Amino acid sequence: MAMKIEKKIKGYAVVKPEDKAAPAAASAPAAPEKKEAPKAEVIQMHESVERPEQLVGETYKIKSPLFEHALYVTINDIVLNAGTPHEQRRPFEIFINSKNMDHFQWIVALTRIISAVFRKGGDVTFLAEEMKAVFDPRGGYFKAGGVYMPSIVAEIGAVIEQHMKHIGLIQDPEMDEATKRLIAEKRAAYEQASTPVGAASAATASSGNAEPTASGFPPGATMCAKCNTQALVLMDGCQTCLNCGYSKCG
Ligand SMILES: [Zn+2]
Repeated sequence: MAMKIEKKIKGYAVVKPEDKAAPAAASAPAAPEKKEAPKAEVIQMHESVERPEQLVGETYKIKSPLFEHALYVTINDIVLNAGTPHEQRRPFEIFINSKNMDHFQWIVALTRIISAVFRKGGDVTFLAEEMKAVFDPRGGYFKAGGVYMPSIVAEIGAVIEQHMKHIGLIQDPEMDEATKRLIAEKRAAYEQASTPVGAASAATASSGNAEPTASGFPPGATMCAKCNTQALVLMDGCQTCLNCGYSKCG
């Protein structure tokens, strides 16, 4: 039986054969009353789980100015306990392909190690976090949407994270309504303030002016340290992020 430990582990003891018998005996009086149907064992991800002949997966394309050719990242998943309430889709293996073979050595090493970690089971979401924190000393680049990618490894990490969200392994913390409203208000106020009087009608006439940057954030917006997106604008002496709501005054 798997259980999530929320608190810090302060101590532990090895279960002895006689201990195993004791709780079974203790819970015995309650069990017959319930008359539960015997439950099948829930399969957890473990290195002994054999690879089925067929796996489901997704392929993501990465286009980076650091790479001449696109990278194609394929993550295949195993579906554990299919058809039961414990059904779970977990990443099983990762492949990265590219026309560009310059980086083949470390890419193969990376994919093999990641695949091995996937198969070990347990919490594998840390992989995305670790990789997203890798900085290329030569500098990163901006993605569409104004998100800063500090390295190609970070972008592979972002793809893994995106995939884990897609299969439900990572729950995206839903932005609360108050923050959403605040961002919308700030944005409206900023756009109103930055639109010169009389130019408003001209801007609506040509859609090119209405949407200043590809990211959808105002031109001149700087990078937000919290969400790594070029969406930080200065309003009333306060730095405000129009993406995540981060704000710093003074
Ligand atoms: Zn932000």
